[in-house]
Amino acid sequence: MAKTFKHCSFCGRAESQVEFFIMGQDGAHICNECALQAAEIVKENSSKKSNLTTIDKDQVPKPVEIKEFLDQYVIGQVEAKKYLSVAVYNHYKRLMQENTNDDVEIEKSNIIMVGYTGTGKTLLARTIARKLHVPFTIVDATVLTEAGYVGEDIESILTRLLQVADYDVKAAERGIVFIDEIDKIARKSDNPSITRDVSGEGVQQGLLKLLEGAVVNVPPQGGRKHPDQKMIAVNTQNILFICGGAFDGIEKKIAARLNTRVVGYNSAKETEMVDKHNLLQYIAPQDLKSFGLIPEIIGRLPILTYLEPLDRDALRQILTEPKNSIIKQYTKLFNMDGIELKFEENVLEYIVDKAIEFKLGARGLRSITETIMMDEMYEMPSKKTKKLVVSLLYAQSKIEKTNMHRLKIA
Ligand code: ADP
Repeated sequence: MAKTFKHCSFCGRAESQVEFFIMGQDGAHICNECALQAAEIVKENSSKKSNLTTIDKDQVPKPVEIKEFLDQYVIGQVEAKKYLSVAVYNHYKRLMQENTNDDVEIEKSNIIMVGYTGTGKTLLARTIARKLHVPFTIVDATVLTEAGYVGEDIESILTRLLQVADYDVKAAERGIVFIDEIDKIARKSDNPSITRDVSGEGVQQGLLKLLEGAVVNVPPQGGRKHPDQKMIAVNTQNILFICGGAFDGIEKKIAARLNTRVVGYNSAKETEMVDKHNLLQYIAPQDLKSFGLIPEIIGRLPILTYLEPLDRDALRQILTEPKNSIIKQYTKLFNMDGIELKFEENVLEYIVDKAIEFKLGARGLRSITETIMMDEMYEMPSKKTKKLVVSLLYAQSKIEKTNMHRLKIA
């Protein structure tokens, strides 16, 4: 009888082309190389899954550890860092409670961070994400405003989470979502009967469902729902939501509340203690209500924290101290061409001064530095000199030639 010709059912190679075959049922074979590859795929996937769906208690970073990590990248904002670290740690504990069998149920503590634009809200969220072993995503509430008007698409928040979790639904269901610019979906007035601002309130109602914990049908590719689309059911019960917003003008609401409270008794003493330059530190849930968040949403965001405005010292620190500070990044860029880059100390002060003068905040530090460095970045790689010292005169000449209003937009 003729010998049957054996080949690998995966790569198709003949027995003579490989070291050996492993036999399966019904004449199937796998060669040593395909078996090895298959084993690697299995290993890779299971470690990815176990990272996302099972939590090893020893792996969970303690709040102090999380804060220390944040300190490496974010200047100041001590209070917000503490609140975030504790909330994330408790989120892990909540996820682990599934294995305990008493009646005490740890409830979810979604967070809301209030702070001027450019003070580090998104940076905090991005940085904490690096330390986490659960899926994490950032979504922008402004996008929801448009789509939410017709009462759809809030679910697309979860599409992003599913995507970062590689469509592993169980993993996504334990993830963290940062919703940026939450203030943009505020109702225009505190009083629902006067202003029927459907868009803002409609989105808030939709969001409420997600915050409370519900099984939501999510379009796997995002975008608008359409009838033929296959939906993925996601339970938001264990998803932690962190919201951030600038809440422009909320200081007035805070001031009004503080004033009404102090009038009548001991008023002089109490007003004296109020730091008028940083009213956000007194923020309370009722201020969010006055701003236009519905009470149900506020109730589902029990942890309220604030970010400090960045003063001169903070801006100066931001320039050089974080692990990937702007100056460190430029130094690296030049080093990659073998060029040693130094800034005279007063150049750094000058950059901070300009950021303050033009009210550009921390975001402006980068655009100002970029303007100063542009010509050198263009020319230095082709020059023979391997050392560059940026002087104050040079920096001033570059900035004076620039239209600072352009930087404002950047
Ligand atoms: P927002 O509060 O508007 O979300 P971001 O976190 O996006 O502000 O900050 C904008 C940029 O400014 C950041 O990418 C970072 O470079 C810088 N920055 C802002 N605040 C800080 C801070 N506290 N520490 C370090 N860098 C900061």
